[in-house]
Amino acid sequence: MDWDQIGQKITGFGKDVSDKVKETAEMVRLRQRICAEEDKLADAYRSIGKLYYEKHEGEIDEDYMPHFEHVGEAKAAIEEFQGQLNELKKTKICPECGAAVDENASFCSKCGHKMN
Ligand SMILES: [Zn+2]
Repeated sequence: MDWDQIGQKITGFGKDVSDKVKETAEMVRLRQRICAEEDKLADAYRSIGKLYYEKHEGEIDEDYMPHFEHVGEAKAAIEEFQGQLNELKKTKICPECGAAVDENASFCSKCGHKMN
């Protein structure tokens, strides 16, 4: 058995691994930079899209129509959820039965407990 040769192989192997690790770290760094740039790109597209939507809302353009519809649906949904959230904010919890009670109510609508 040639120990020198084996030693060289091991050293060589170690070097390979080290290079691979370095390459991987560099790849990770590049992937992070790509991700950051993709985020910037998405933000820029978003801004362009928002501006376009605001300038052309209500206009009929077949190419943009499906996207406009999605925007409209999403905006309506957000408004609906926001309304539900506001309604929840306006309620207080009955200390007696745990029901959600209108913040201005004097008595719990479920158990009649006096609300302060
Ligand atoms: Zn109650």
